Amino acid sequence: MEEQKTMIEQKMYYKGKPKNELTPITSNWMHELFNDQTVVRGLVERYGSPINIHHLPSFNQNCESYKQVFESYGLKYRIFYARKANKSKGLVKQAFASGIGVDTASFKELEQSLSLGGNSENLVLTAAIKTEAQIELAIQTGVPIILDNEDECRLTQAVAIRIGKKANVGFRISGFSVNGEKLYSRFGFDVDEVIDFIGSYVGENKAFNLLEVTGLHFHLDGYSTHQRSVSLISSIHIAAALKDKGHEVSFIDIGGGILMNYLEDEEEWSSFNENLKKAVTDQSNDITFNNNGLGFRLENGELRGRLNTYPFFNKINKGTFLKEVLDFMDEESGLSVASLLLQNNIEIRIEPGRSLLDQVGMTVAKVIHRKKDAKGQWLVGLEMNMSQMMSSSADFLLDPYMMYNSEVEEDESVDLFFTGAYCLERDVLLKRKTRLPRLPEIGEYVAFVNTAGYMMHFFETEAHLFELSTNLIFTGSNEKLSFFQFIDDTKIVLE
Ligand SMILES: *Cc1c(COP(=O)(O)O)cnc(C)c1O
Repeated sequence: MEEQKTMIEQKMYYKGKPKNELTPITSNWMHELFNDQTVVRGLVERYGSPINIHHLPSFNQNCESYKQVFESYGLKYRIFYARKANKSKGLVKQAFASGIGVDTASFKELEQSLSLGGNSENLVLTAAIKTEAQIELAIQTGVPIILDNEDECRLTQAVAIRIGKKANVGFRISGFSVNGEKLYSRFGFDVDEVIDFIGSYVGENKAFNLLEVTGLHFHLDGYSTHQRSVSLISSIHIAAALKDKGHEVSFIDIGGGILMNYLEDEEEWSSFNENLKKAVTDQSNDITFNNNGLGFRLENGELRGRLNTYPFFNKINKGTFLKEVLDFMDEESGLSVASLLLQNNIEIRIEPGRSLLDQVGMTVAKVIHRKKDAKGQWLVGLEMNMSQMMSSSADFLLDPYMMYNSEVEEDESVDLFFTGAYCLERDVLLKRKTRLPRLPEIGEYVAFVNTAGYMMHFFETEAHLFELSTNLIFTGSNEKLSFFQFIDDTKIVLE
């Protein structure tokens, strides 16, 4: 009894508590690791700091949840994991094992995905810039190429002639009209010209006779389900028009951008937003490093700008987001988007990146030093740099976790910032000031959760010749946690 009691009371890890908490949703596997620092220590000592851990069962679960949505509608579907969101091979291999495909956006992404079990059925090439080598590899292997412009059609036709094999292609479309406004994108063929273009140039006895159009594609900026529904309906009409012209358009790919939810509590999210605005307005911002407004600013006494981050709290996310796209009622036909797809016998495809990585990853770094700056603020230096957890926007708004190597016996709370190894004033890993129950010791660990989507690799650089972080694939199982369940991603091969 005695012993059990101390076990329960002994707490070695804590969530950071900024003044405005943003409590991340976490998974059991993360807490298992927080609770087993021997494993964490073994991994950091073996692979260096920081490490990125990827939990395969969580990835599989996300794949399953999307499948279930499509199956509940009886739709024909394919899911392609947009691997640009995370470079790990282990996730590509898991995607195939989970029965979904992979969206590739470069020669290497395509080549590597092929070597990990990819083929014409479970891959797609959507690269923004398509080289001759990419196109040749895709034609050789029968992987659909999503064409963006006329020059790409020309190059694809030329390669197809040279190697004597037809190219399986989809046309990327943009410029959809939603509520009377045209959605701008630098990608794709204009929605008002694509039917004429394909009708005039693609198919037998035409300029591009070796392009076989099998589908249509769009990927919208932003996260509106309404824009996606309306664009999908337009695409269904375009597919029907193309079918009338003899093209076997069988799929419409609606790309990615499906929202995910990072946060436990909507209330925390809204009060953080309000308090940040208030702090910027009152010029009393002690929430962030150097009063960073995260997109808000004061101009002539007026609050300007908007929160320039991912919308971290989303009630509608993943499956419910997809349902909202599919349930939208088309006024013209009186049918839902899902019914229109069924009626037109069209396979719907999606390419989620970020949302398939929900709860999949975590970044762990080691504390190297502690210091007080001239303002009297604690700065905790980590063996890690800003490029190893970098968002495309102003900040990653999730509270961190601190793993202590001994129990925190009494409250010695400190406010602090975590700083990184680049010689830039702005290498501060989270812009929000956080509070911990005691100052971290050298050699203790900090964990940033849910970093697998875009945070780990998208902006990672090798300035100062720092090593890139090691990516570990965590097979996860019911067995007791052990060092050997973590595989170095560079060692992942097709068995
Ligand atoms: C980036 C991208 C995706 C993935 O977007 P997420 O927001 O990560 O879901 C899918 N398709 C295309 C064409 C993309 O450019």
